[in-house]
Amino acid sequence: MTHVFHRHLRHAPKLAVAASGMTFRDAEGREYLDASGGAAVSSLGHGHPDVIAAMHAQIDKLAYAHTSFFTSEPAERLADELIRTAPQGMSHVYLVSGGSEAVEAALKMARQYFVEIGQPQRTHFIARRQSYHGNTLGALAVGGNAWRRAPFAPILVPATHVSPCYPYREQRVDETPEQYGRRLADELEAAILGQGPDSVIAFVAETVGGATAGVLTPVPGYFKAVREVCDRYGVLLILDEVMCGMGRTGTLYACEREGVVPDLATIAKGLGGGYQPIGAVLAQGKIVDAMSRGSGFFQHGHTYIGHPVACAAALAVQRVIHRDGLLAKVRSDGEAFGAMLREALGAHPNVGDIRGRGFFWGVELVSERASKAPFDPALNLHVRIKKEAMAQGLLCYPFGGTVDGKLGDHVLLAPPFIASRGDLREIAARLASSIDAVVRGAT
Ligand code: PLP
Repeated sequence: MTHVFHRHLRHAPKLAVAASGMTFRDAEGREYLDASGGAAVSSLGHGHPDVIAAMHAQIDKLAYAHTSFFTSEPAERLADELIRTAPQGMSHVYLVSGGSEAVEAALKMARQYFVEIGQPQRTHFIARRQSYHGNTLGALAVGGNAWRRAPFAPILVPATHVSPCYPYREQRVDETPEQYGRRLADELEAAILGQGPDSVIAFVAETVGGATAGVLTPVPGYFKAVREVCDRYGVLLILDEVMCGMGRTGTLYACEREGVVPDLATIAKGLGGGYQPIGAVLAQGKIVDAMSRGSGFFQHGHTYIGHPVACAAALAVQRVIHRDGLLAKVRSDGEAFGAMLREALGAHPNVGDIRGRGFFWGVELVSERASKAPFDPALNLHVRIKKEAMAQGLLCYPFGGTVDGKLGDHVLLAPPFIASRGDLREIAARLASSIDAVVRGAT
């Protein structure tokens, strides 16, 4: 009998006892190759000596200081490092303890910005279907995962959802990627106009979609067109890079490739690489200036924000990424990984799409390639694939089912950046074998 409240109440997860590099070990001595970095968290793998040393040194000096009394050296240094490497225009960092907290803080910052500049009538967010922004109530409100939202829908703040950028399912055969991106930006504009442009606070989107739809890379020009629409109506652009940021796609921020700078960006997961719970909001100067000229106070806060040990860990993670040239590695090995996945799975009759960038890949399953029909959600393929992969010594991140009745099952892969080409080949091989075993058994 366990006393821990696990998310699955009828069965407990396996007991992990150790992890090192690319490998986890459970209490029964079984080993697992980490192909998902937890949930796209571990960028440096497990047990990295530099990060552990930085955490030890910080604990010895100062483990905790409440931000109403003190700032700390690691918080200041981390913020400096993040702004040094951030897209141009970002000038301030608000440190929190995870992704949902970062999204909550960004939503509140955006709302308070408009209160400060005399536009309190802006109360509405626009976001996208098939997205995920976290599980707290504000983050759920902008999130577009129907299943996660359902029980809480009546108590969420108002948000309108437009189409995600999902070329495999939603780009028409008679349009180019650029035309598709333009069509989506027009849809956003229509939503802003429908809502009343003066009432919209922000458009919120994951730069590269992650958890809900299995890695949705934007088509070229989409985010530029979105940025233009937002600017036309004074609507802020919040890019959620909690999963896709911090090098996961081969650039530190995924929006670098899109040539846009958001007003607010959220980061977490890869920021601390799993060594400590930490997230952050990066803000453009105009947002912070409005608050400092106005009330002089951001009406928000949590007990553990700017935690010194978390900041020390994140700073060490970020320094190793730059010192070891891991962004360039993720770009080149990421392309090779894509090729390995296509080789191992591309011809499989139930693999509809393989898409991604850097060390962030999604494999979408279909019951039939021609019609792109998903499998019956009752088959619970994603759950079975996760189980089978674990039996084959692989940790991957499958999702599934019933999002807006459109999506089927998919598998998300987000290995640590330290993965060797041999590791990546092994991941592709074990995933192909796991998918094949489950699909054969189910059909
Ligand atoms: N935003 C995105 C894009 C995410 O993928 C996630 C988590 O998967 C979150 C926010 C929430 O982060 P956390 O689970 O750290 O609260």
